[in-house]
Amino acid sequence: MPKLQKPPFESPSPVQLIAKKRDGHEHSEGEIESMISQFLAGTLTDYQMTAWLMAAYLNGLSQTEMRALTLAMLNSGRTLQLPSVSSTKVDKHSTGGVGDKISLPLAPLVAEAGLAVPMISGRGLGHTGGTLDKLEAIPGFRVNLSAKEFERVVARVGCSIMGQTTELAPADRRIYALRDVTGTVACRPLIVASILSKKLAAGLDGLVLDVKVGRGAFMKDARSARALARALVETSRALGTPARALLTAMDAPLGLTIGNALEVRESILLLQNDGPSDVTELTLELGAEMLVLGKISRTHDEAKKKLRSLLESGKPLERFAKMIEAQGGNPRVIDNLKLLPKARSTSLLYAPRAGRITEIDSLVLAEVAVQLGAGRKRAQDVIDPGVGFELLAPVGHEVSRGEPLLRVHAKSPGAVRPFESALSSAFSIGAKGPSRTRRLILGRIEG
Ligand code: URA
Repeated sequence: MPKLQKPPFESPSPVQLIAKKRDGHEHSEGEIESMISQFLAGTLTDYQMTAWLMAAYLNGLSQTEMRALTLAMLNSGRTLQLPSVSSTKVDKHSTGGVGDKISLPLAPLVAEAGLAVPMISGRGLGHTGGTLDKLEAIPGFRVNLSAKEFERVVARVGCSIMGQTTELAPADRRIYALRDVTGTVACRPLIVASILSKKLAAGLDGLVLDVKVGRGAFMKDARSARALARALVETSRALGTPARALLTAMDAPLGLTIGNALEVRESILLLQNDGPSDVTELTLELGAEMLVLGKISRTHDEAKKKLRSLLESGKPLERFAKMIEAQGGNPRVIDNLKLLPKARSTSLLYAPRAGRITEIDSLVLAEVAVQLGAGRKRAQDVIDPGVGFELLAPVGHEVSRGEPLLRVHAKSPGAVRPFESALSSAFSIGAKGPSRTRRLILGRIEG
């Protein structure tokens, strides 16, 4: 990992740094490094960082500034070396979606193919679900591992999924908390620095990015998603970690479930080779990108074929059970889905008329899921792992009037009542007729 040059001048003051970005000038690499080190030392305060972040949001950052910020944030903590892991280390990161449980089946599947997957994941952000919250639905599962424990699990099992420890990219943790409450999250260079500083701290040999586009994604249009994907791939490569990205659709939810325990169940079904076709397809696509990047396979098609046959063998499911056990969870969930937590009440939402489901608004479903307790409205909220939705009529499905569209898992029978009309509005029902195929992969960026 290249180290930045120490600035050959006295450190610029916080006010000078803010004014320079406010006036639309480009910082040197040394200035960015100085800003992050002053921030960590406390001589550049939270309110000064917030002012700089807003200036960066409004005026943007150049490629050089974005790379320097990523590196300074990465170097604000330690980088894991994982010396006892001999296989090539490749990870995947998703920019966040609805029903996106791909990391759960993907990590053991790709590990089965011969890569090591040291995955540092996050919690739910806004309306999007988080891998850590889903894994914590498994009784006993621990996501707060020490660096040593993480290394031991990756070396023994081939994959491990944990949260960002206090030692990894601490500047990102503090800056993200400021961005979250000051309207500065939706800024491409800040997103790039935030994601990559955390991901590259795991000492990866390669990174595959799943950049989501659509109603349920942070990036609503293909143009901004493509620009984000390019910036992520180019910055990662410039810092020495090969990367590629897929642009994938996030209008309707991915798969047939939203909610933590329900999504673990769907992941286990996928590893039993009985998952919904869109989640299975995307898992294989992303896995194939990882295998090509990690030089396990020469071509995407060869990689996908290999992963499909591994999935059929059932071995990745056994590996998932080993990972669960190694992280303190109950591995018997893979044979007994009843061990997963359940919500107290279930109810059905019915189709108001006959027709074909043309669209399902994942953003509406995700926002109601958060209101019902499947996600957090404030950082300190406690999630109910059993709460969520099962889609009974996915996009393309023909329904009769009165047929169930959705099974709602809630804390009480009354909890869903205030949201019933919002939930109904999420389903667009058109005329009966031939269904359009949903495109899942919208683009590929190889750098
Ligand atoms: N996810 C992150 O980790 N950081 C961002 O800035 C946005 C999404």
